[in-house]
Amino acid sequence: MTTHTKAPPTPTSRPLHLRGRILPEGKVRDIWIAEGRISREPVDGSETIAPGGWILPALVDAHVHLGIAEIGGPLDFSVLRNDMRQLAHSGVGAARILGSPERLPAHMLSLPGEPQLLTAGVPVAAFDRFISGWGRRVPDRLLAQACAEEARCGWSKIIADWFDPDGGYGPSFSAHAIEATVSTVHGIGARIAVHTQSSVAGARAAAAGVDSIEHGMHLPPSALDDLATHGGFLVPTGFVFEQLKHSMLDRSQPTDLRTWFAEGLENHPGMVIGARDRGIPVLAGTDLPVGALVDEVAWLHCAGLSAHDAVGAASWTSREVLDLPRLRHGDRADLIWFAHDPRDDLEMLRSPELAVIGGEVSAATL
Ligand SMILES: [Zn+2]
Repeated sequence: MTTHTKAPPTPTSRPLHLRGRILPEGKVRDIWIAEGRISREPVDGSETIAPGGWILPALVDAHVHLGIAEIGGPLDFSVLRNDMRQLAHSGVGAARILGSPERLPAHMLSLPGEPQLLTAGVPVAAFDRFISGWGRRVPDRLLAQACAEEARCGWSKIIADWFDPDGGYGPSFSAHAIEATVSTVHGIGARIAVHTQSSVAGARAAAAGVDSIEHGMHLPPSALDDLATHGGFLVPTGFVFEQLKHSMLDRSQPTDLRTWFAEGLENHPGMVIGARDRGIPVLAGTDLPVGALVDEVAWLHCAGLSAHDAVGAASWTSREVLDLPRLRHGDRADLIWFAHDPRDDLEMLRSPELAVIGGEVSAATL
């Protein structure tokens, strides 16, 4: 008896072979894919699907929130699955989810054909100092403990500053609490990401040795020095700030808030270049909504990163910094392929001619 079922993703039961210039090095190399894994050695019976062109480690969104149907609302699993499908289809093979309304089930973190997910659990914030309905709220003295509990999948996230009632934007936790949290989270082998958009909280976070600064608006140069010293990285999410420009600079907003945002936005590209010049990895992250990764790559390029570095921010650099699969022998197979060099036209990144995500062909126009 036969039944009609939905077509499964293109299986890679037959081994695949690609030859091309592999970025970032750009040397012509062969890659095989067998049983969902990369092989750097020939695999018998493989089918050559790319005899030339350019091969990149699949894209990475280093700061995103998936499964969000409404701001402040619960995790929506049907939206989450749609988001993951959309990312896989556009060549995004991994995403770092920097805070969810609730913790994600562990079985969803690395599924065949789906983006690999890094997750920071529920973001930790101070009372009345984050989006209503979201976040785990703690007083200063419980910050370290809460972050350690949320870091069970390898990352936790602090909302280190927020809007003040008087129209400003300032720190939510003491320098001491941030220092204690970094020490506690590192002590259990996990990493800590910090949302910051004020110079005071940004400086505290960088001085404490956090692993990543998220947004980083108003981050002073001295904080970049500290970030470099401690080996941290920066995710500026510049495109989302560009998108917020019209609402944040509207005359209905308090004057202080408009000034804070306008000055931060103006200085944001300079911060990216300051980070690059200090050797700090700059990664592409989109925040919300889902699907703007190539816009962020284009923003990073406009901010002053070379096309090579801007693409790397959403691919090989991100994978190295986040310790994700990156086309080594035995790695989970996550790659995208183009007939031409995408660094010559970043728009090409929007539609890879071939995407293999989690070992399965997710998109192909070959
Ligand atoms: Zn975010």
